[in-house]
Amino acid sequence: MNRVDLHSHSTVSDGSYTPGEVVSMAVRAGLAGLALTDHDNIGGVTIAMQAGKREGILVVPGVEISAEFDRGTCHILGYFFDPSDKIFQEKLAYLQHARAERNPKIAKKLQKLGIDITYEEVQAIAGAEQVGRPHFARILMSKGIVKDFNEAFERFLGKGKAAYVDKFRYQPEEAFEMIQASGGVVVLAHPYTLNLPDDELNALLKKWIELGLRGIEVFYPDHTEEMIDHYSRIADTLGLIKTGGSDFHGNNKEGSILGDCGPRGCPSMDVIEQLRQSSASKSG
Ligand code: AMP
Ligand code: ZN
Ligand code: FE
Ligand code: FE
Repeated sequence: MNRVDLHSHSTVSDGSYTPGEVVSMAVRAGLAGLALTDHDNIGGVTIAMQAGKREGILVVPGVEISAEFDRGTCHILGYFFDPSDKIFQEKLAYLQHARAERNPKIAKKLQKLGIDITYEEVQAIAGAEQVGRPHFARILMSKGIVKDFNEAFERFLGKGKAAYVDKFRYQPEEAFEMIQASGGVVVLAHPYTLNLPDDELNALLKKWIELGLRGIEVFYPDHTEEMIDHYSRIADTLGLIKTGGSDFHGNNKEGSILGDCGPRGCPSMDVIEQLRQSSASKSG
């Protein structure tokens, strides 16, 4: 197998398996390459890269940064940055701090809605690591308040819903800059969540390419074949690298399977080489 999964989460953010476990699962899934892309956090990257060396799979440094975007959800993927870059770590630490301030407020809102929940319960299922909304969703499911993740987000946790609390995010351009300054390459995750019509998406991508965007996530479990073909054409037209991944979260997201990047499969190993060649550390 020559396939790679460039989008996965571990217990460092809101995945349910440790970085080491995700690497072992990637080997068992027959993948040749993996990127751990925890939300706003690169704390698992070095451990995963070391585990990859031991287990014979190429693990590349990754991160998924939530950026400000009124119209929808904007997640920026970064690859091949220097995980020891202190300024990058500090900028991400600021996001982790914003998240830590937000999370107890979500618990309070849920309590005000009459739900018997404590923030300590949420922290307990997240382990010692960063809490995210999927952890709240799991508690709501285990208490029988909602039947699945979707209902948890639709009724309580999604943008604008009853227990939603906003948090600080960098502008997309700021996320680009911090990834590039640490030697990385910038990729747009799951483009459909921007919620833009085609003409606006095209115009935005052109603007972002000027600022360093080098790839878009074409292969993704929520994309239909039509969407994959559509984003492939956009990528070809604009000269963007076609990346992809499973967005694996273990038990913290329904139906996410490591190595399952949707109906056209995962990208091949040469996509990692394209990303490496496009990273700021290579292009100077
Ligand atoms: P957070 O980073 O804590 O704000 O949580 C964001 C994460 O929640 C995303 O990366 C997804 O894993 C999950 N999420 C967001 N919206 C939904 C949804 N509608 N259904 C299921 N999971 C979602
Ligand atoms: Zn997540
Ligand atoms: Fe995402
Ligand atoms: Fe993700």
